[in-house]
Amino acid sequence: MSFGPAFDAKEQVRQAVDIVDLVGSYVQLRRQGRNFVGLCPWHDDSRPSMQVNPERQSFKCWVCDLGGDVFSFVMKAEGLEFREALELLAERAGIQLRTPSSPFEGESGPVRPEDDKRTLYRVMAWAEEQFHRCLLGAPEAEPGRRYLTDRGISPEIIRKWHLGFAPDRWDWILERASGTEWTPPILERVGLLRRKEMGGGFYDWFRGRVMFSIRDARSRPIAFGGRVLPQLAAERTAKYINSPETPLFSKSRELYGLEIARENFKAGGGAIIMEGYTDVLMAHQYGIDNCVAVLGTALGERHLQLLRRYTESITLVLDGDDAGRRRTNEILDNLLALFEKNQIDLRILTLPEGIDPCDFIATHGSDPFRQMLTQAVDALEHKFRTVTNGLDTLADTHRASQAAEQMLVTLASIRQAGGASSQSLLREEQMLSRVARKFHLPEESLRTRLSALRREAGGRKTSPPQARPTTDAPSGSPVPKLTDLPKSDRDVLELVFLDPSLVARLRPIIEPATMTSNAGRQIYAACCRLVEDGWQNDFGRLLAEFDDPAMKNLLVQLDESCQTKLTADRERWLADLLETSRRRGEETADRKRLAAARRQGSDAEQLLAQFCEQSKSKHLTEFERRKK
Ligand SMILES: [Zn+2]
Repeated sequence: MSFGPAFDAKEQVRQAVDIVDLVGSYVQLRRQGRNFVGLCPWHDDSRPSMQVNPERQSFKCWVCDLGGDVFSFVMKAEGLEFREALELLAERAGIQLRTPSSPFEGESGPVRPEDDKRTLYRVMAWAEEQFHRCLLGAPEAEPGRRYLTDRGISPEIIRKWHLGFAPDRWDWILERASGTEWTPPILERVGLLRRKEMGGGFYDWFRGRVMFSIRDARSRPIAFGGRVLPQLAAERTAKYINSPETPLFSKSRELYGLEIARENFKAGGGAIIMEGYTDVLMAHQYGIDNCVAVLGTALGERHLQLLRRYTESITLVLDGDDAGRRRTNEILDNLLALFEKNQIDLRILTLPEGIDPCDFIATHGSDPFRQMLTQAVDALEHKFRTVTNGLDTLADTHRASQAAEQMLVTLASIRQAGGASSQSLLREEQMLSRVARKFHLPEESLRTRLSALRREAGGRKTSPPQARPTTDAPSGSPVPKLTDLPKSDRDVLELVFLDPSLVARLRPIIEPATMTSNAGRQIYAACCRLVEDGWQNDFGRLLAEFDDPAMKNLLVQLDESCQTKLTADRERWLADLLETSRRRGEETADRKRLAAARRQGSDAEQLLAQFCEQSKSKHLTEFERRKK
């Protein structure tokens, strides 16, 4: 833990942001006694399980068993690293963070600009502006403007979505950047330049392309998608290219248009996920403004974690060509399980073959497209239609039994992931009886087979990948849960939480180093340090000592557990702790003496006898003392 200038900023931010205000800007809170309560945004909450404690400046969801402070709340809610959460809160509180820093910051000297995330955000904003202005006014952008006009994209959409143009040159952005602070290594880090394989130097990654700006949920440009001009298409292998993965951009966790569409999910009945940039733009242009697009990757778990913050219902719009169908079927089981686990409804709309959503909407308007959207089917139903498509269950018994088995495997994996909510049980029952009818099989035997599949899956543990927490705990020893914290550590910490003034009396006997667990040692050390600084019992201050959300969670759990011990006899508690510690210290000393003597080759047997005698008499006196 460092007490550099970054610490001052953190403390300043902490004092400026109130947890009730902050959580209240995400969930509606109402007062309940000394606390505030609201619906937890991270599980399907029907009664308020999220508790916010203004006095301790902490939050806690009893169902998720998750607690923390303003920093870890924002980290979780926005999917940010600690430093980003600090920046966001500082911005919110109008506090200027002075020290240049980045995730790479360390004692190893000043940070290179290409390693500073804030520099990277700024260069992306600059580049977006360059491409955008070029599209709006530069003579060489004429083919780009024509392409967008031909597709029917309006000037309003071009402005609102910051569309741009990259001229067909090897050094356009390189040249724009010369004489500015944007050096080639910075531009390379965000994927705008590539290094030449021979002879050194750099060249532009996007050439002769209409540029789609990809922004994150906080509306910061983080990447681009580039569509090649039609007249250059013949000589280029890829119609679309995206920015590579960079410190700012990972395609599996971003969605095109989310920062604009998310406002409209509620009114639009959920999120609509399309395949292309122009599909999304045209949909928005025609008022279907709850559309986003995946970025050259299949819809995955990270996307769901992102979307889950804003909606519980998703419609996936798929192109009707064979390749599209095959792609979907390959990932459908996995998707179904993911959605079940995240408790999001998934509906699928497969477009008739040859229909491109952008052209379709531009030609027919929004109503026919909305009409099509109503034909989206539940994902399980989609699976059923896929496996039974064109199948004569009486004539082709082999394929029929394969298809029935496929449905059962899907059902098994769904429940594996989602548990047994009454809704998913009901859906399973309905699907089982449909499969039975369709394939002329007795429901009972299907049920037996389903249980067998489920047992197999459970035994092999091949359920879909587990949700990873949005904030990865630092590597090294994992932070234990409260129940795993050794009782000896817990006893010390809880007493300190109840009354920090007792640290002065504990400290001479119980050193941080004598704590059993790593987490216990860190927390106790932080308490000791704070007390030296004149800490009273500002729990938020203690929480802010740790950046790791898992540690904050542990602190909140400890604090909650203290609340049941408010009336405990603290003097007695303290005396017991000191006595236990003293005895443990003596035993360790005895063992050390014995070991040292052994190493010196003394008469071990004699020493051992001596040791036994000593410790027996010690325990006897102890026993005598206790009896009195
Ligand atoms: Zn919860």
